[in-house]
Amino acid sequence: MKAILFKQHGDISNLSTGELESPSPGPGQVQVRVHTAALNRLDLWVLQGWKGLDLNLPHIPGADGAGEIAALGTCVEGLSVGERVVINPNLSCGRCRACLAGQDNMCRDWHLLGETVRGTCAEYVCVPAKNVLPLPNSTSFREAAAASLVFLTAWHSLITRARLQPGEKVLLIGASGGVNTAGIQIAKLAGAKVYVIGSSAEKLELAASLGADVLINRTEDESWAKLVYQLTDKQGVDVVVDNVGAATFPSSLRALRKGGRLLTVGNTSGPALEIDNRFIFGKHLSILGSTMGTSEDFYQVMQLLFQGELEAVLDTQFPLEQAQQAFTRLADGQQLGKITLEIP
Ligand code: ZN
Repeated sequence: MKAILFKQHGDISNLSTGELESPSPGPGQVQVRVHTAALNRLDLWVLQGWKGLDLNLPHIPGADGAGEIAALGTCVEGLSVGERVVINPNLSCGRCRACLAGQDNMCRDWHLLGETVRGTCAEYVCVPAKNVLPLPNSTSFREAAAASLVFLTAWHSLITRARLQPGEKVLLIGASGGVNTAGIQIAKLAGAKVYVIGSSAEKLELAASLGADVLINRTEDESWAKLVYQLTDKQGVDVVVDNVGAATFPSSLRALRKGGRLLTVGNTSGPALEIDNRFIFGKHLSILGSTMGTSEDFYQVMQLLFQGELEAVLDTQFPLEQAQQAFTRLADGQQLGKITLEIP
């Protein structure tokens, strides 16, 4: 089968389109003929590699994918060859305490497609049957692939972890990335007032088109925490979603109201943080960590996508052969929404 692969860690020049043997579905698995894959920042980090990451090289990146079931392993019921599906990239054992409690994203043997196992940037991928969800005809492969991981991640953080309520104020740091464009829509659907901090007028325009109520351009006003405080009658917001980490954490703590919740969902600016603890106890703040989501979250948020309540935000689509161009666009960070790969 054709696949995007890399034989050693490093920069984007290590990516190529090559041929690998198609994987066969094991017991309880389905083989999906991927029609569209979508890219995530994670794919760049995996390509770069980190200490302790031990991959079976060559590796195939890609967490997101949608396509048709091409073959069924033994003991698979309720699915058929030719069925259109979207893939939930969170792989869990199904037997441990967390899995049995419905918290499969905390599985003790948790993996993500394209991270520690071969991913979706290929003609075929095999996943457990519980990791595919049938697609209605009204949802395209491209929309489904573009939505899966980012909507799951945003839903789990805002709804399952932060328990966002109607009328609450939520601040998202970032306007145009996959998780934030999903988060804006989910927060609006939950009845919240949405504040967005973006780095350009174009990115903020996209956020506004998705329903964001208050737009803050951080290139015009670096002291955005103070601005948020002023814009909320000197109260602060109920929830901040921070995926930047070191560079924004102090401002995020400042922007929260007393009793507010800080959702930390990533650290693109680095993992080591300095925290002024007076904010946390003095303002009764809660810091909530969140990553990925559960099977239940995936089911819920995908139903809303299928019903048209939520919408995948699409940037450029590239053919599989142009993987390097696609990854370069991802690395540049200028995309508005999701970059997808077509695998015809
Ligand atoms: Zn488990």
